[in-house]
Amino acid sequence: MRHVRLAGLVMGAMLLAGPARAADPVPVLATVGMIGDLAAVVGGDCAAVEVLIGPGNDPHLYQPRASDIARLQKAQVILHQGFNLEGRLGEVLERLQRDRVVVAVGEAAVPADLLLSAHGAVDPHLWMDVAIWARLVPQIAAVLGTERPDCAAAINARADGFGQELGALHDWVQATLASIPEGRRVLVTAHDAFGYFARAYGLREVAIQGFSTESEASVADIRAVADEVVRSGVPAVFVESTINPRTVQAMLEAVAAQGGKVSLGGSLFSDAMGEVGTPEGSYIGMIRANVLTIAGALGGQPAPWPAELAAWADRHGVAK
Ligand SMILES: [Zn+2]
Repeated sequence: MRHVRLAGLVMGAMLLAGPARAADPVPVLATVGMIGDLAAVVGGDCAAVEVLIGPGNDPHLYQPRASDIARLQKAQVILHQGFNLEGRLGEVLERLQRDRVVVAVGEAAVPADLLLSAHGAVDPHLWMDVAIWARLVPQIAAVLGTERPDCAAAINARADGFGQELGALHDWVQATLASIPEGRRVLVTAHDAFGYFARAYGLREVAIQGFSTESEASVADIRAVADEVVRSGVPAVFVESTINPRTVQAMLEAVAAQGGKVSLGGSLFSDAMGEVGTPEGSYIGMIRANVLTIAGALGGQPAPWPAELAAWADRHGVAK
């Protein structure tokens, strides 16, 4: 009798203190918001998702702080992009994966269709092509479903629904950007984050800095882009939410010095989403905001908002 009671007590203590009570949401840490949003949508109440590198922060320049290491250690699942996006995180993740699930979801979901630099480095900005980014959804669903098998059916159902929303978003982006007059389909930005975007949606990308922002833009880089802006006659150029606007300003001055005319078309979300709690603080809202900014500045017209995304618009208080 005593044994039985003891066993019950021990089990009770394990249930209270154990790291993986079946009904607890899985503690998930995503490196960037674009991954975190996918995990939060797909995971629902089966996952507690946090983001390591938040709004306004540049993942290329990321260096883990002591408090970040503590957050990483608390996570049961760590989702990162891979392809060298997250600055100095690689070594830390290697150590952490000994006793937790660490998945490079970008690398796992997108083995092909990659853009490469002249030196063979992979362009990590995969979220800019919605059809490509949608491939991460089943990947993340599989990871979370393995951690919470009791939630797997619900996770897969949410992943299917989200996949349909992203399909509709992709078509909307395509239709909206196709309305930009032919000669104006040039996207001039601070760093080379829009290669996949340009490829998917029929624009030509011109960037002052390369894939990574780790090295400073040179005077020659700025001058080359200024020359290109003057030559192409594009009406507007863009700054980015995670990048100091001074290189774009220097380029605008160089254009003006040549007698060229170009305006600032607005700020784009390149490597981080907007503030938490705003529509742009979600992946769909980030893409929507970028596309409206680009189309507005380059003379395009927004296509009708898709019916599949009406519920998303309602949830975020956005006009359809
Ligand atoms: Zn970038």
